[in-house]
Amino acid sequence: MDLDLLDSTLSDLGQPAFRAKQVWEWTARGASSYEEMTNLPADLRATLTERVPFSCLRLERELHASDGTVKALFSTRDGRAVEAVLMRYRDGRRSLCLSSQSGCPLTCTFCATGTMKFGRNLTRSEILDQALHFRRIEEVDHCVFMGMGEPMMNLDHVLAACRRLPSVGITHRRTAISTVGWIPGIERLTAQEMPIRLALSLHSPDDALRSQIMPVNDRYRLADVLRACRDFYEVKRRMVFIEYVMLAGVNDSYAQALQLARTLEPWIFKVNLIPYNPTDSIYDGSSREAIETFRAVLEEHGISATVRLTRGRDIDAACGQLAVKAAAAG
Ligand code: SAH
Repeated sequence: MDLDLLDSTLSDLGQPAFRAKQVWEWTARGASSYEEMTNLPADLRATLTERVPFSCLRLERELHASDGTVKALFSTRDGRAVEAVLMRYRDGRRSLCLSSQSGCPLTCTFCATGTMKFGRNLTRSEILDQALHFRRIEEVDHCVFMGMGEPMMNLDHVLAACRRLPSVGITHRRTAISTVGWIPGIERLTAQEMPIRLALSLHSPDDALRSQIMPVNDRYRLADVLRACRDFYEVKRRMVFIEYVMLAGVNDSYAQALQLARTLEPWIFKVNLIPYNPTDSIYDGSSREAIETFRAVLEEHGISATVRLTRGRDIDAACGQLAVKAAAAG
């Protein structure tokens, strides 16, 4: 729901200020229409239905994987593709993966979104509408900005959305923003007040390889990015997650695991090894054994490391995969 349009419409109609809050409370609790909002006058419900579309996003496709993962492909009013994913875990956790941009201006070579043309930043309301879509299916409690786009390049809208997520059921502590290492964004996240978690997509312990697979590294070098993450930790006292996509023969050797372990302080960083979800790229994912060996080397050197469960592989749940395929299919 376009929250700015909601505000201006309510004030046009001469409605009291608390109406916007009432509408939001219903919406955040999973209402699917204005009609359900029984503490609003009936004629106001009818007017809002006409004047303020209930969502800024149109659902184009929804895919359900055998492991319970649900992936939604939406389009914005101006026809931009947006993807979001709901991951269901056995312990009951319900985690959302949200997009901050349609497409991405960065060109990480292994990432499907990186091969798309950049569309634009999403608004706060377009980000919230992804979460609200899933909230209408069931209660949700975690969120990561690991969908399409670089959240730090659209941080105003991302943070504005985060401010409202607790009423949807997702506290700031259960919200994580993932970045390629966009330093100005990391600094701003450090300086603002919400206790949101930081995740860094590292993918290589050295600058030469990192620049090759993530061209943004030419702009923000590894040492500077890690310094910004350490500063984040000093201020926030929250560990930083390192995301590391395992690419066979590229970044998965023993020497690289060792170098990674020596680069990171064990009290600041936790590593999350991500099995590569194959896209139409030049890369193959590392084998299960290679990933396990890599993890063991990190652990032996005191760095806590987990292997990310692969979710939704049968529905192309990796970043950008669905939008790229939908575009190719016309
Ligand atoms: N731009 C931000 C947010 C996107 S997050 C960032 O890069 O952190 C998306 C995460 O998924 C990143 O860690 C990215 O490296 C990873 N990723 C992208 N494509 C992938 C693929 N095909 N398989 C596994 N992980 C992938």
